[in-house]
Amino acid sequence: MPEKRDYYDVLGVEKGADKKEIKKAYRKLAMKYHPDVSEDEGATEKFKEISEAYAVLSDEEKRNTYDQYGHAGMDGFSNEDIFRNVNFEDIFQGFGGGFDMGNIFEMFGFGGGRGRSGPQRGSDIYAEVDITLEEAATDIEKEISIRRDTECPVCEGTKSEPGSNPETCQTCGGTGQVKQVTNTILGQMMNVRPCPACKGEGKIITDPCHNCNGKGKIKENNDINIKIPAGVESGSRLRVPGEGNAGDVEAGYGDLIVLINVKKHEKFERDGANLYYEQQISFPQASLGDTIDIPTIDGEVELKIPPGTQSGSIFRLRGQGMPIIRRNSKGNLYVTANVVVPQKLNDKQKKLLEEFAEISGEEIHTYEKGFFDKFKEAINH
Ligand SMILES: [Zn+2]
Ligand SMILES: [Zn+2]
Repeated sequence: MPEKRDYYDVLGVEKGADKKEIKKAYRKLAMKYHPDVSEDEGATEKFKEISEAYAVLSDEEKRNTYDQYGHAGMDGFSNEDIFRNVNFEDIFQGFGGGFDMGNIFEMFGFGGGRGRSGPQRGSDIYAEVDITLEEAATDIEKEISIRRDTECPVCEGTKSEPGSNPETCQTCGGTGQVKQVTNTILGQMMNVRPCPACKGEGKIITDPCHNCNGKGKIKENNDINIKIPAGVESGSRLRVPGEGNAGDVEAGYGDLIVLINVKKHEKFERDGANLYYEQQISFPQASLGDTIDIPTIDGEVELKIPPGTQSGSIFRLRGQGMPIIRRNSKGNLYVTANVVVPQKLNDKQKKLLEEFAEISGEEIHTYEKGFFDKFKEAINH
């Protein structure tokens, strides 16, 4: 397969193009390449390409994913996902009724939802899984429970009681399709529709399977093992091929699409592959320097605090962040050192600090015991 073109290039817009520009660019190209009007040999392919680019770039969530990860980021979306919720009708408003987009998408082999002729693949199933940040840092396997249609074990998906055979449909002669002429703004169009008598199957079940009532499938609870790659982020979608609902016997199962939620961590904040951690250090540690243990996502490491460290200083620990998905590298861990001022001092500590101030040439006016309380009393009156 040739390499997929960049969606922005496909529509001929800048990376920062706003929704209006994207819509305008798509509309212009669609008028040119719509298979009903274009004489171009590759018009259907071209139309499919621009429609896909539009579907992604007109949806904020999909566009963000694409901007971040490119085409690789779209792996988690099926064609149905990509075209879901895209309002194509809206594009051709003012064109006297518009194009029949549903029909076009059937032609591409996806979407439409009007029933295609021939065997149908099972639908996709959506599930969610919660994982911890530690789990997101390594390749893991998780078992999730789903309820789905599976092939009926009695008829093996054929819908007919074992031993009986379906009859060829008389209406369509077994092709599963009927032809129909419709009028559109672009002239007459020949449509091929699924046969209404056999619902596109080309045959009529005479003796339905008793176990599935002739559906060919039964509902089942299944535990599915899914592999989650190191570095996943919250909101990522994982596609598990063939673990969705059972379809027609010849077309097979749909996919399982799993939405990953990475739970908030009590110590680390995450931003992409980088982690952030706040470490409290004392005034002596900050002034004299120290070597301390710092937690990382894979255990503790030593961090050298140099003498004279200011509160709020940030230390970068290279490669101690999260793995970058499908790449052999890791982000960084950023440690912010916060110097903590003690809230209570004993007499000796106080004396030493006063001495310290004196040696440093500082004159400190400490207040008497009870001063603060008196002050509080004063403002309360
Ligand atoms: Zn059955
Ligand atoms: Zn038929």
